[in-house]
Amino acid sequence: MKSVRMVEAGKPLELQEILIPSIGEKEILVRVRAAGICHSDAHYRAGRSGMGKLPITLGHEVSGVVDSVGSQVTTVQAGERVALHYNISCGDCYYCSSGNEQFCTTVKMLGHHVDGGYAEFIVVPARNAIPLPEEISFEEGATLMCASATALHALHKGRVKAGETVAVFGVGGLGLSAIQLAKAMGAVEVYAVDIKQDKLELASEYGAIPVDAGRMDAVAEIRKLTKGKGVDVSLEMIGLPKTMKQTVESLGVLGRAVIVGISQTPLEVNPYATLIGYEAEIIGSNDHLLQELHVLVDMARRKILDTSCVVSQTIPLDADQINKRLDDLEEFTSDVRMVIVP
Ligand SMILES: [Zn+2]
Ligand SMILES: [Zn+2]
Repeated sequence: MKSVRMVEAGKPLELQEILIPSIGEKEILVRVRAAGICHSDAHYRAGRSGMGKLPITLGHEVSGVVDSVGSQVTTVQAGERVALHYNISCGDCYYCSSGNEQFCTTVKMLGHHVDGGYAEFIVVPARNAIPLPEEISFEEGATLMCASATALHALHKGRVKAGETVAVFGVGGLGLSAIQLAKAMGAVEVYAVDIKQDKLELASEYGAIPVDAGRMDAVAEIRKLTKGKGVDVSLEMIGLPKTMKQTVESLGVLGRAVIVGISQTPLEVNPYATLIGYEAEIIGSNDHLLQELHVLVDMARRKILDTSCVVSQTIPLDADQINKRLDDLEEFTSDVRMVIVP
């Protein structure tokens, strides 16, 4: 089968002809119908994150049709449409058994530690397959498995309740999903903070109140819009120290700031003014859970979550075009979401 693989860190991916992988008794073989190209893939190609092996097929946002199943698989059948949970956890360790499988001691990620979806076929454990209803395209199904899932998990971590207010810092794929999901969870007002006009307009189309951080102080504006109270939950989806600080400073009493964007820079806040006085919380959020994906797909099927605006271009399984897209992601030259359709 054709497969676009990372052979060496810092080098372009290469198209290789490799054997179709064989399946174990609890695994399934999936014919890939869509594989999203994610910003993380640019980090992997550049060698900024340790890979499980080399060469490796990248791609962790994958959907397709089940081709064949192992002898002990009873939950999925050949011919079914599925999207794939990208974390392969053991199901048995302390963390898996206590419902926190993202901390599984042997967790492996598709397209990072084991071969991913930039290929014609992929093998995964049967439990990683999420049924994908006809109403959701393969392209949307693939991207649901990363950004939208991470947004849902972050809102769960923030314990959003009906009647509360939410601020979303960063209106990318994560932010647009977070806006819609926060509303579905009962948030009465969602403020969308960004510096790009087109993104703020898109956020407004999904019912958020835009806050243009390029033209005004986002924290002061959120205070003004909430009549001085601040928000109940704020989400940082960018990974910049400045916006992380703003995310915390936008909180009201008993507020929860959820940090999703990745940064290695220390986060500085005034403990009394921003945390103690408000009994506010700063919460980290990483990845998502298998159980959240079933809920997410159902929300997308019911159009509570619309990600049709997220996928803006499809390309074939072609190394040059994929490398070009990863170059664009490295240089932030384009915001379009590209999906490989092999
Ligand atoms: Zn991703
Ligand atoms: Zn485990």
